[in-house]
Amino acid sequence: MSEVCVKVALRVRPLLPLEVLQNHKVCLRIVPDSNKVTVGSDRLFSFDHAFGPTATQDEVYDSCVQPLVETLLRGDNATVFCFGQTGSGKTYTIGGGNLGEEGGIIDRVAENVFSLLGEKNSDGVETKVRVTYLELYMEQLQDLLESHNTDKELFISKNNKGNTVVVGAKEIVVTSAEELLSVVEAGNVLRHIKTTGMNEHSSRSHTILTLQVVQAFPHNNPSLKPSCSSKLCLVDLAGSECARKRNKDSRHNESAHINRGLLALGNVIRVLATRAQNNCKIPHIPYRDSKITRLLQDSLGGTAHTLMVACVSPSHHSVAETVGVLQCADKARHIRNCPTATSTH
Ligand code: ADP
Ligand code: MG
Repeated sequence: MSEVCVKVALRVRPLLPLEVLQNHKVCLRIVPDSNKVTVGSDRLFSFDHAFGPTATQDEVYDSCVQPLVETLLRGDNATVFCFGQTGSGKTYTIGGGNLGEEGGIIDRVAENVFSLLGEKNSDGVETKVRVTYLELYMEQLQDLLESHNTDKELFISKNNKGNTVVVGAKEIVVTSAEELLSVVEAGNVLRHIKTTGMNEHSSRSHTILTLQVVQAFPHNNPSLKPSCSSKLCLVDLAGSECARKRNKDSRHNESAHINRGLLALGNVIRVLATRAQNNCKIPHIPYRDSKITRLLQDSLGGTAHTLMVACVSPSHHSVAETVGVLQCADKARHIRNCPTATSTH
């Protein structure tokens, strides 16, 4: 099976009204008609896609996410994850619970998946969509679909095909875009209720929404396998600055600011990129250092088709963080995944 690289889309959000009032300067620009971005006067990065402050949610979806939905319905696994510092536009980009113009990736995926499945249904394909919604905070997995029974243990494990699964996660069957989005909204409400200090919390937690699509094909077409199952993971990561040490903090506070998951994620990306660039065998990829890297194992160096959306603010105040995100995103582009068509059973 041929390899595919992890694709990276850069998204630069507009300056926010308060930033304009406070006279923030724009420190990065997309080179017109290209997928390149310049930071300051001397740094240039290229990506698979680059979206500037005026890019719409539709443009982002149509050019880089829609193809992954087609991949999903062909029976392959796919992942989209948003990466970037707090306030860079990750949650705006991933969306959830808004079917209007401003709706993000989750909203558009919901509409797109069910409209394509509708077409399949009229061709006699039986389909089912199951959803799970999890949050990972301080290395603790929490089920956002479970309003009771909150101390249920969730385990990350592998299924018989070698794919990562979370054992114990509640699965809800959904039959329309609206139903899917109401499940997501209920999960988001739960996330807010269960936590105090919401801003701090949301900047340090990861959320993982997974859609599993099962298709059973009509018996009258012998060229098709009888059924297939594939999943799409939509991930909103914690703020990338959580992974950085802050020198001014005391030793104790410093450790509180380091998100172990994001450090581990950075390491996994670096090791996989080095392996691909030097075409060498590196036996140990440190997936097991954190739960987020275990959860993303299929997506980074595994069998999924993966898109990383690197979100950045244009403000000169965050230039150091922005360059850190661009460097990590640049490495991620080298990672090779090996999708398999063996999800058929
Ligand atoms: P993050 O999830 O990375 O912390 P948010 O998605 O919450 O960041 O975005 C921070 C703020 O910027 C929010 O007020 C959001 O509405 C706004 N924003 C982000 N991206 C865009 C965009 N592309 N266009 C307009 N506003 C945006
Ligand atoms: Mg957010």
